[in-house]
Amino acid sequence: MRLPVLSIEEVCSRQLCTGCGVCASVEPDRFRMGDALEYGRRPFVRDAAAAETGEAVKVCPGASLEHTFDPSDPELIGELANAWGPVYEVWEGYASDEAIRHAGSSGGAATALALYCIEQGGMGGALHIGARADRPYLNETVYSTGRDQLLANTGSRYAPASPCDSLHLIEQAEKPSVFIGKPCDAAAVQRAQTIRPELDTKLGAVIAFFCAGAPSTRGTLELLEQVGVDDPDRVTSLRYRGKGWPGLWTVTWTDADGNERTEQRTYAESWHFLQKYRQWRCYICPDHTGEFADIAVGDPWYREVQPGEAGKSLIIARTKRGRDIIHAAAEAGYITLETKDATLLPRSQPNLLHTRGGLWARLKVLRLLGAAVPVYRGFELFRFWRSELTLKDKVRSFTGTAKRVFRKRLRERVQVAEVVDGGGR
Ligand SMILES: Cc1cc2nc3c(=O)[nH]c(=O)nc-3n(C[C@H](O)[C@H](O)[C@H](O)COP(=O)(O)OP(=O)(O)OC[C@H]3O[C@@H](n4cnc5c(N)ncnc54)[C@H](O)[C@@H]3O)c2cc1C
Ligand code: SF4
Ligand code: SF4
Repeated sequence: MRLPVLSIEEVCSRQLCTGCGVCASVEPDRFRMGDALEYGRRPFVRDAAAAETGEAVKVCPGASLEHTFDPSDPELIGELANAWGPVYEVWEGYASDEAIRHAGSSGGAATALALYCIEQGGMGGALHIGARADRPYLNETVYSTGRDQLLANTGSRYAPASPCDSLHLIEQAEKPSVFIGKPCDAAAVQRAQTIRPELDTKLGAVIAFFCAGAPSTRGTLELLEQVGVDDPDRVTSLRYRGKGWPGLWTVTWTDADGNERTEQRTYAESWHFLQKYRQWRCYICPDHTGEFADIAVGDPWYREVQPGEAGKSLIIARTKRGRDIIHAAAEAGYITLETKDATLLPRSQPNLLHTRGGLWARLKVLRLLGAAVPVYRGFELFRFWRSELTLKDKVRSFTGTAKRVFRKRLRERVQVAEVVDGGGR
């Protein structure tokens, strides 16, 4: 049996890193985050003389993930727990503020809930991400304290981001804060809380959004080139979606003659292009729906979105604290809740049980072929491999992964170089 990965360097070189940034937050003397063109946000050694304390690898979601919720809690929706993690309530709704609803990726629920927490819930701000002002094709972690800042940073960015690299901002804030991120970011925060009492006290709410995978910066640069942007440093703004539902991938840049130009692609076109550049860890991710957050939000894609339709969000209460925040935000008029229906979750993400089942085989093949495997505890996988995959898919779940092990060099330790100055902490 192979040993689990034991250091942050190994998590990166064996391609298990999600890019969350929590290692740079808990061991800031040793690690800082940067952008590795082909992979995503990655930790780089800031000072080799600063020894690893072991805290980072302990909380690293790339190396391991473990569920700690109590599945026998009678208030949980029991029939969802095995496949979807802890769920107290499932709603379809949207931000009551029209500008937030329009700018948001889906119905602006993440932003509206964060705004409620700040304006009415006694919190000081929200730690999340936004486009970098100097290079809008890169992301940076931001701490928003009001509506304008939150609004400016709405929208999913299908590109590397490491919001956990600045957890110190939550610890240093006077009041509690909201955290918004991907499911792996939320998992990292939950674990960091267990070793950082100050963070535990200051974390008012964790909001995660559904995530099928984070494409590398290489993906964005190739797409920019394809639409005619010859120099990415001339990009003045880049949105991946939002401003409509799901909204358009939209780049604006100044061309060599000084003219302002804009190109757009549909959400489907841009995601079809970018998804090929997802980091490896996303292919073996056990949590695409924010199982470690207080509240998870996603697209209620159980039906076809009509042209021009205003955005809607699927809103999942994953803890009792999350449920209370959703109810209070609705009562205070920040969020409009339309339908409460537990079946909305499986109906909106019909492929995820298949993905979860396929993961069982993927992990087996990785282990057999000597590639690195994260330690996952508390996730049901085998039962879905048995029930959700056809015979053909079952065979493919083994052969497809075996091919990828060699194509993606998963048995090797890869060199992860910082190619772009990624800023960050
Ligand atoms: C990489 C990625 C993959 C996704 N995959 C799926 C999917 O499989 N299924 C699905 O239903 N939806 C997916 N989404 C979209 C997501 O569901 C919607 O963004 C979600 O519904 C939130 O919409 P909203 O209108 O409430 O968010 P908004 O109110 O627009 O707020 C979005 C928030 O997300 C933060 N954010 C944006 N990009 C990132 C990032 N890369 N990392 C960390 N934080 C970020 C912003 O800072 C902002 O606070 C994905 C989004 C991303 C970024
Ligand atoms: S997954 Fe997060 S904690 Fe682990 S190495 Fe990557 S950035 Fe660091
Ligand atoms: S697919 Fe999983 S590992 Fe990849 S970015 Fe999304 S939550 Fe993180």
